[in-house]
Amino acid sequence: MKRIYLDHAATTPLCKEAFCAVTDCLSGCFGNPDSVHSFGREAEKVLRGARDRVAELMGADPSEIVFTSGGTEADNAALKGVAAAAGKRRHILISAVEHPAVYAAAEQLREAGFSVGVIPADGEGFVTPEALLGAIREDTLLVSVMWANNVFGTLEDIPELARAAHSAGALFHTDAVQAAGALEVDAGASGADLISVSAHKMYGPKGAGALYVRRGTPFLPLIAGGEQERGLRGGTSAVHSAAGFAAAFAATRGSAAEDAARMRELRDFFLGELLSEDGVTLVGASDMSRRHPGNACVRVEGVRAGQLLAALDLEGVAASAGSACSARLALPDRSLTALGLTETQADECVRFSLGRETQKEELVRAAEIFRAAVRRIRKA
Ligand code: PLP
Repeated sequence: MKRIYLDHAATTPLCKEAFCAVTDCLSGCFGNPDSVHSFGREAEKVLRGARDRVAELMGADPSEIVFTSGGTEADNAALKGVAAAAGKRRHILISAVEHPAVYAAAEQLREAGFSVGVIPADGEGFVTPEALLGAIREDTLLVSVMWANNVFGTLEDIPELARAAHSAGALFHTDAVQAAGALEVDAGASGADLISVSAHKMYGPKGAGALYVRRGTPFLPLIAGGEQERGLRGGTSAVHSAAGFAAAFAATRGSAAEDAARMRELRDFFLGELLSEDGVTLVGASDMSRRHPGNACVRVEGVRAGQLLAALDLEGVAASAGSACSARLALPDRSLTALGLTETQADECVRFSLGRETQKEELVRAAEIFRAAVRRIRKA
């Protein structure tokens, strides 16, 4: 059976550029980049090259890039690093549709004595500057709103939201983990003070990512214990991961415009197929230009996502119901109920996410399998 992978929002396959960068590094450059001898200097050169590349691709200065073990760490570092450096401001605001990495980090800060507020989203997952300003307080330290939603693909207006947060004197963080591979994420144009990105969502290795920290942002390290990353993240640097991440980022950005255009066309075709089935409705932004190019998230009335996903998997189609991080909890993703769906309705949502290698024939076949599975389950 030929399998069809439609879960690129969970992770993407490693591209050859990243594979070569990782293996070259692992086989030929084992030094510790902090060592002063020639072995260390060789590794430091590779790490510096990776940092320069990531910085350039994000419109940042290399000194503003902190390599992390991925998006979850970057999100935790953003919230907790700013909180650790906080003065009198003790209020954190996150949107209602954040990934568990942001939500859980905020919950830990609440337990540590910060107060945490939630900015509501509308029925399509949009967080408006008005909603942000309605929830902000004089003592708000940081506002965190994601760039592209991982479940239903809605793209937020980050420059507008950053402006609104700044107008109240708060810092602004955005989780751009889903956005960075497919769309341009420019630190300067975004206005954000902190931006999280992850390599494995852009055809790079797992366990690699970065946090952009705008110069001058009050920030303390999440991981103490070394002077690596200019004192902002302790621990011997994973040079091969950084090299693979930078190579994947460069390769992805190189063809991003064409890939996004192609994915949008395929995504629209696929959504048309899914929505033609009775009782199937779109979840997330209805304006397709304000949706992640690869995201096709739908609700299938009367069909539990778990049952449908298992049926699809049996036929070789891989999709998911929400963030892979919460997939084992057997609960609907929190961001879906934030759209106003009941728990039962949220439990009927499935997410298909296309990648740059997705072919139309695969989507034709996946749509046939989807329709047959939905009818079988409903009949039963
Ligand atoms: N943020 C978002 C929006 C995500 O989709 C994910 C991964 O699913 C993460 C953060 C976590 O990133 P990582 O898997 O690199 O820890």
